[in-house]
Amino acid sequence: MEGPFIRTEGLSYLYEDESATPTLVLKDISLQIEKGEFVAILGHNGSGKSTLAKLLNMILVPTAGKIYVGGKDITADDIGDEDMLALRRSVGMVFQNPDNQLVATIVEDDVAFGPENLGIQSAEIRKRVDEVLSIVGMTDYAKHEPHRLSGGQKQRIAIAGVLAMLPECIIFDESTAMLDPLGRKDVMNAIEKLNREMGITVIMITHYMDEAARADRIIVLDDGRILFDGTPSYVFEQEETLKECGLAIPQCTELIHRMRDAGVVLDGECVTLEDCVSLILNSLEKQ
Ligand code: ADP
Repeated sequence: MEGPFIRTEGLSYLYEDESATPTLVLKDISLQIEKGEFVAILGHNGSGKSTLAKLLNMILVPTAGKIYVGGKDITADDIGDEDMLALRRSVGMVFQNPDNQLVATIVEDDVAFGPENLGIQSAEIRKRVDEVLSIVGMTDYAKHEPHRLSGGQKQRIAIAGVLAMLPECIIFDESTAMLDPLGRKDVMNAIEKLNREMGITVIMITHYMDEAARADRIIVLDDGRILFDGTPSYVFEQEETLKECGLAIPQCTELIHRMRDAGVVLDGECVTLEDCVSLILNSLEKQ
């Protein structure tokens, strides 16, 4: 495939709700996402993150602009049902609430649901279910009832269900927001594994800075526009502007900024706790 996996040109979206004034919630969004990239999307509530995700998966149709997925114009007038099915298979979505995404009463049936709807043969489905449950670390729960699982376990089952359709890209729309710290950690580890080990393109909407720090690139939305698009290190350098739009930087990055302001020499970037510890240790060793 030539070119980026996802490309948008001048994307805008207007909600036309009869009961409210029409609002342009996305304005002229042009971006590119390469195959295999791990991109985090940040922005305060109402900045347009979920709307962007729904456009990329064609749950919503843009008011203006173009979206290309795998080089194909999915906003073209002649896009058919077959193309739409292929898109949904290739770009999966995992949502915020784990309880709204599970449909069956047994875990393995839930994971098999997507491929069954695609008409995949049962031997192949069995193989895929076993593989994807192992990838998300839920093999031992294959025969369990989903409603008895923790939030983090349910989200990993939801991820397995999407994985069973062999997607090229998965969009996570605040998929860790309703989880406790342990569930969040397990889900983040699963997301990182699909990207780093399986080469799946990940687009992760989050409001947790420590999660965004694990991405290759962060896109910051503010009031429907792209405010920043760059590496975590570059984006977190923009501390003042981020604060003005209601976003904090990771605490470890802020600590290093404060220490530098106080005159401590700390060479290197700091976006994760590990970076922070090594910068401080290096500095102590030099004293
Ligand atoms: P985010 O995910 O960044 O919180 P959203 O994309 O959900 O932002 O929403 C962007 C804006 O669009 C918000 O102002 C929100 O109120 C508005 N909005 C979202 N969904 C609808 C809808 N169905 N009808 C009208 N306005 C909506």
